[in-house]
Amino acid sequence: MIAVLGSANMDLVVTVDRAPGRGETVTGLEFTTVPGGKGANQALAAARAGGDVAFLGAVGDDDFGRRVTALLAGDGVDVSGLVVSDQPTGTAHITVDGTGDNSIVVVPGANGTVTSLTDAHRAALDAAEIVLLQLELPLPLVTAAAEYARSRGVRVMLTPAPAVPLPPALLAAVDVLVPNEHEAALLAGVADPVAAARSLAAAGGDVVVTLGARGALRVRAGAVTAVQAFAVDAVDTTAAGDTFAGVLAVGLAAGLDWDAALRRASAAAALSVRRPGASSSMPHRAEIDAFLA
Ligand code: ATP
Repeated sequence: MIAVLGSANMDLVVTVDRAPGRGETVTGLEFTTVPGGKGANQALAAARAGGDVAFLGAVGDDDFGRRVTALLAGDGVDVSGLVVSDQPTGTAHITVDGTGDNSIVVVPGANGTVTSLTDAHRAALDAAEIVLLQLELPLPLVTAAAEYARSRGVRVMLTPAPAVPLPPALLAAVDVLVPNEHEAALLAGVADPVAAARSLAAAGGDVVVTLGARGALRVRAGAVTAVQAFAVDAVDTTAAGDTFAGVLAVGLAAGLDWDAALRRASAAAALSVRRPGASSSMPHRAEIDAFLA
């Protein structure tokens, strides 16, 4: 089983010709609401790829929370560990302008109430082969979950986004670190992705740095392996990284070797960028199999 302990949000997306300046009002073109949050995205990607997934986190007692929960449950994610909190469901307020640039305000809401490891969290972690963590829940909780999982022999995969300095105790408990190249550079303090990955891998784990259309690279104990991306016409890369991480976890939990697991993750992420949206773009297992056949 794959446990995902992370954020669930509703993304509130407005498209504009031009983002408003300070004190200015502009007329938007379109408004959409899209379930998101890195935790929920990774859980959904993993479940669609065929994983047995439990999602742990919190939503509010509101329509956004019910929609995110229904989406996850509809794809077979076990949501019994998704608590309904007294705070509203987390929201990401996203403005996308005519050049594709965006600005985002995130309100953690219910995600911010997940502050300590509960018995329900521990029970789910005990039953898991691998736990997926990101940094959209309070950092002490993420660190406690990683340490607990490590102490129980459960593999820990961390997507360090949004990038903040990692407590040494957290990095030490991570088996697989999956930053994108910007996060890797910020965490390691070096711009070159290979050097950044080598530096982060010095803590002892595997590091997989994703490089967008240029693929990814895996570093373990100083050895670097390049991972090819699949050439596709990219329409929208939102959540490509979350799709990659979720599907990589499914492969590793199923006992695939690293090369095969990374190939499936790359294929799923490539399929997701061919379609618009986050959750709406994530492929199911049959589609990944057909793409790789
Ligand atoms: P996001 O924040 O949008 O979720 P990210 O920055 O975390 O993405 P990326 O490094 O952009 O992650 O992409 C993750 C993986 O997705 C890449 O390693 C690659 O396999 C795949 N991918 C991303 N963009 C493309 C693309 N244009 N064509 C093919 N594959 C892609």
